[in-house]
Amino acid sequence: PVLAVGAIAGTLVGLLLAQSSMRPPGPVDALRIAIRRGELVPYYQPIFELATARIVGCEVLVRWVRRDGELVFPDRFIPIAEASGLIVPMTERLVEQALSELAPLLSGRPEFKTAFNIDPAHFVQQGFLDALDQIVAQTGWPNTRIVLELTERNAFPDMKQAVAVTKEARTRGYRISLDDTGAGHNGLGHIQDLNPDIIKIDKKFVGVAGTVEAADAIIEVLVNLGQRMGAVVVAEGIETEDQRATLAHAGVAQGQGYLISRPVPLARFRTLIRDHELVAQPAANDPQMA
Ligand code: C2E
Ligand code: MG
Ligand code: MG
Ligand code: MG
Repeated sequence: PVLAVGAIAGTLVGLLLAQSSMRPPGPVDALRIAIRRGELVPYYQPIFELATARIVGCEVLVRWVRRDGELVFPDRFIPIAEASGLIVPMTERLVEQALSELAPLLSGRPEFKTAFNIDPAHFVQQGFLDALDQIVAQTGWPNTRIVLELTERNAFPDMKQAVAVTKEARTRGYRISLDDTGAGHNGLGHIQDLNPDIIKIDKKFVGVAGTVEAADAIIEVLVNLGQRMGAVVVAEGIETEDQRATLAHAGVAQGQGYLISRPVPLARFRTLIRDHELVAQPAANDPQMA
């Protein structure tokens, strides 16, 4: 009887194992496979000077291009990547691919910078900067032309460590950008602690600039903060010429948004840069500079 019970138990375990291996892949497995296959690709959104429309850099925004051509947006998989730790290999591949693809833009454009979104939990992981240095060095980009965007939407697991890594990152030349400023739950103390090189005003305020008094007041405060701290202020989500004009008038230096371009894949981004440079006045011929 003992043997019989053992055999039945063994069969049950076997059945359970077989079942688990036949189970369709969950979202984490699917994401892991997609990363391995290179289905997560960089899209690029230009960042421009509000006063001149000159393109001064770009933000890399990840897209999942499925084999059937379906485009999946980051809000659908970034939370899974963050929770599972897959954000680390995803980000490393993305940085490598983006900087390699964009390397031809380096020459003749001394101010062009590329910004990456870095999960705050990843940022404070042991060895983050060493791994980044290695990838960046392989691509030929100087660290000084790389911007690390840290969102205010996610809390840092360890604020002391965040301050330390931020300082070390800046020592190594990287620019630190506080993303979604005003929309997170971190408060202004974050700006004091991290001393960012760039302050990005969240879309929430930009979208109603010039129409909602409180938004205009908040934008004014952030511009003032930027000036006092020597940080460049960037507005995200500029969709209309009215918004661009209002923000430029308020003293916001740079911006990005559908007004100039949505995030686009490499081929379209390179065409966009070329066409833009053909019509934009080169600095040397700019009558305002003469
Ligand atoms: P974010 O870093 O604040 O990026 C700006 C978002 O605003 C992007 O959404 C962009 O497509 C969108 N946007 C830009 N201009 C406009 C505009 O004029 N109007 C409107 N309505 N939207 C505009 P996207 O690409 O869907 O990314 C959403 C968020 O996902 C990002 O917000 C960022 O937090 C996260 N994300 C994207 N790529 C990565 C990544 O590679 N790593 C990590 N950790 N997070 C990423
Ligand atoms: Mg960002
Ligand atoms: Mg943002
Ligand atoms: Mg945002």
